[in-house]
Amino acid sequence: MRILATILAGLLGLVFGSFLNVCLSRWPEGESVVVPPSHCRACGRTLAWWENIPVASWLALRGRCRTCRAPVSWRYPLVELAVGALWAVQAWRFFDAIHHSGSYTDITLATTAAKALFAWLLVALAALDAEHLWLPDWLTLPGIALGFVLTTFLSPLDRTWWLRPATVQLAAFDSLLAVTFAFVLILAIRWLYWLVRRQEGLGLGDAKLMAMLAAWLGLPAATLALFLGVVLGALAAMGMLFLPRRKNEALKNEVWAAQKLPLGTFLCVGGIVSSLWGQALIHAYLRWAGF
Ligand SMILES: [Zn+2]
Repeated sequence: MRILATILAGLLGLVFGSFLNVCLSRWPEGESVVVPPSHCRACGRTLAWWENIPVASWLALRGRCRTCRAPVSWRYPLVELAVGALWAVQAWRFFDAIHHSGSYTDITLATTAAKALFAWLLVALAALDAEHLWLPDWLTLPGIALGFVLTTFLSPLDRTWWLRPATVQLAAFDSLLAVTFAFVLILAIRWLYWLVRRQEGLGLGDAKLMAMLAAWLGLPAATLALFLGVVLGALAAMGMLFLPRRKNEALKNEVWAAQKLPLGTFLCVGGIVSSLWGQALIHAYLRWAGF
């Protein structure tokens, strides 16, 4: 049952990842994600059903259009695999949650569905920031609101089946505080960066994304996501400094230092890692630090 559900969730994730790819190609162009049907972005030919199978079609056609041979970005299989894998993990963990805690199955199911949506949203934002340095408000702002509502009502329900107004008020206050703190934290870093470098290092989109992570994960896990994101971003920046220079010595350091890194992408990856293993990582750190 558990293995079957995990496989089904993974397959469903592949399909929703495939739909996300359509969105990722069309949102930046301001096109509808419903019509026209899937087509090659280069020659416009409508794709046959067997050219639309997640991952498999891309592999079978070796990442090229069948007729015009235009390359198809490896973003397609990557996004499909990411959503598929994340949904499979959530389904697997659902069974842990109903076995180990005394919580009610429908609440756990709702929480799992919410986490699946959160993962889908993070993959979407990671891809958009990587390709377009764009974190649209109409994804992050509803993301904050949804995270706030879910943590306010679902998290207390995980512990008791009956919601007392005081419990909801406390959870709402907690969540609101976390969201505000995360947003202000990024604004402060942005301001400091401007003082030192006299240029904008962080976008307001990053601040809203950080607020969204705080709304869904709570402050400790969101801080961990920020830490992981900054480390990943720094590693990528060092990679950019060293790798291409070997090819072209003429390129100056400053050129690379001025390159814009998609911090939002790294924040999203940090958020995914933190949402999956955040509690374990934080506990391990506290043990190591001697708390
Ligand atoms: Zn084509």
